[in-house]
Amino acid sequence: MTIIASLLSEARLPDSPSPRLDAELLLSAALGKPRSFLHTWPERVVSSEVAERYADYLQRRRQGEPVAYILGHQGFWSLDLEVAPDTLIPRADTELLVETALALLPAAPAEVLDLGTGTGAIALALACERLSWKVTGVDRISAAVALAERNRARLKLNNARFVESHWFSALVEQRFALIVSNPPYIPASDPHLAQGDVRFEPSSALVAGADGLDDIRQIIQDAPTHLLPGGWLLLEHGYDQAPAVRDLLARRGFALVESRRDLGGHERISLGQWPC
Ligand code: GLN
Repeated sequence: MTIIASLLSEARLPDSPSPRLDAELLLSAALGKPRSFLHTWPERVVSSEVAERYADYLQRRRQGEPVAYILGHQGFWSLDLEVAPDTLIPRADTELLVETALALLPAAPAEVLDLGTGTGAIALALACERLSWKVTGVDRISAAVALAERNRARLKLNNARFVESHWFSALVEQRFALIVSNPPYIPASDPHLAQGDVRFEPSSALVAGADGLDDIRQIIQDAPTHLLPGGWLLLEHGYDQAPAVRDLLARRGFALVESRRDLGGHERISLGQWPC
């Protein structure tokens, strides 16, 4: 007989940065109950079927697989999103991009674009907060577009749509009031890529050339032909890339170029306004 409390205390996840949390998330998923159930019923005996499922999840986690991929979903902003190995797992850091985007434009009708949408996290958070906006999310990976569309349909956000497109390739004539992106920005030689959860994430969503700026350079180059006069470009980037990104924005002709800090105090996003 195995009880909840001992299943949790006996979980061995030596390589995880958050072993207790991981064990709780995996056991509550194996049980099909919310995490609070574990705290309310620590003495509850679980069935052998649940114990086996949990053991299987723990084994996958020990091999390094991210909890979000094992569970198949991840919270972002106020949304619960389906995730899959075709896409980056949405990060709490990226909520700063959503907050900043919401503060840039008034809550009036506007066309907004999310480049490299992945799960659709940013596009759907914006669509959910601003029902008057029409949000287009693009991704060049068709499995990501299908996943984002499933998330959209489940959340019933009819003001968002998803299109397969490599950056702007499928958006020939369209102009937007706001373009946002969390593009790949990790330098190819970054040792961080060989550690932890990122090993399981698609490198196409993470890596961008020798200095990590290949995709950001392309987006900054091409964005002006898709921005309305006075429109904004808002980019997430690495903690030490803000000076380089501001420089690229300014050289391309953007005005009001600035960066914003994340909760860790790093300049994590930069933005520029296309002149009127
Ligand atoms: N912030 C992520 C990480 O360092 C990378 C996200 C990205 O490349 N867009 O794991």
